[in-house]
Amino acid sequence: MHCVLLSETLDLRGYLASEIDRLRDRITFVDHPCADADEVRLAVAWDPPADGFSRYPKLAAACSIGAGADSILRCPSLRAGVDVVRVVEPAQAQMMSGFVLWHAIGHQRGLPIYRDQQRRQLWRRIPQRAARDIPVAILGFGAMGSRAAQDFAALGFPVRVWSRSARPAPQGIAAFHDVGGLAAAVEGAEIVVNLLPLTPETRGILDARLFARLRRGAFLIHVGRGEHLNEADCLAALASGQLAGAALDVFAAEPLPADHPFWDHPGVMVTPHDACDVSVPAVADTILATAAALERGETPPHTVDRVRGY
Ligand code: NDP
Repeated sequence: MHCVLLSETLDLRGYLASEIDRLRDRITFVDHPCADADEVRLAVAWDPPADGFSRYPKLAAACSIGAGADSILRCPSLRAGVDVVRVVEPAQAQMMSGFVLWHAIGHQRGLPIYRDQQRRQLWRRIPQRAARDIPVAILGFGAMGSRAAQDFAALGFPVRVWSRSARPAPQGIAAFHDVGGLAAAVEGAEIVVNLLPLTPETRGILDARLFARLRRGAFLIHVGRGEHLNEADCLAALASGQLAGAALDVFAAEPLPADHPFWDHPGVMVTPHDACDVSVPAVADTILATAAALERGETPPHTVDRVRGY
């Protein structure tokens, strides 16, 4: 099956290099724009060019190389009826959970205070707080959010989760859903973790109204998508002390512009959209499973719901 590689920001052929031999039997990769456009039924895409999909009239599916497919979904040339597929890999959710817990425990245990004390060669114990006294709210209870919720609960944090639809949650995790459940999910939480996909409903969700509901001195762990966060509201909440700190991995503009106030903010830790990686073998498996489903005339596994937007 012919598969076109579509990205303005990544060398997808180089990215897939270690798996090309395994894929070669089933998939013929072609670079965009390609001469045999009519042969192309599959695309692998990440930040595709705006007109990228328009050249391939027989395209049936487009695979993302990550858990999110938003850069494909917002591409104006993506036709209705093309299946958009994302990668779902348990090891990625595990890695994401580790990233989130790293920041959460840093907040719980006073990591910035120890850093400062060490710089001043100060030997001073600080009062420690038990996990049970630090309520955590996780926005998004999907592949990533559910893993993080279980790991927080295992460490003794009271956990609330928020999803779009009602979801059963294991014992010890309080589940809320829909717009109406958001306030209850975040009310009085000290740590809020954003693991939502970017959709019209979730854009800008991390704003002053949400921050005001948190416990004073709360900590934000933002690993969804940059456009979830109202950056001005975040800076204001940090300035007022409503937020004690924020771990920010994703930004409206990436790379984060050199003059952005987040870079130097003492309460902010910036990471370069690096919370977790999907493995290249998992991407290759997704491409193969998608091609096999298309050959059987079936909907590929992990096809996103284009109406819901994730
Ligand atoms: P899933 O699709 O598995 O889960 C999404 C969750 O968000 C679901 O629980 C869903 O609810 C919930 N949700 C979606 N829309 C709404 C809404 N309007 N209101 C309330 N809840 C909503 O996604 P993943 O867990 O795999 O990934 C989540 C996101 O994490 C990705 O879309 C991406 O943005 C981000 N991510 C970031 C990475 C990084 O490196 N920073 C790496 C990987 C992912 P329901 O259960 O009802 O469907």
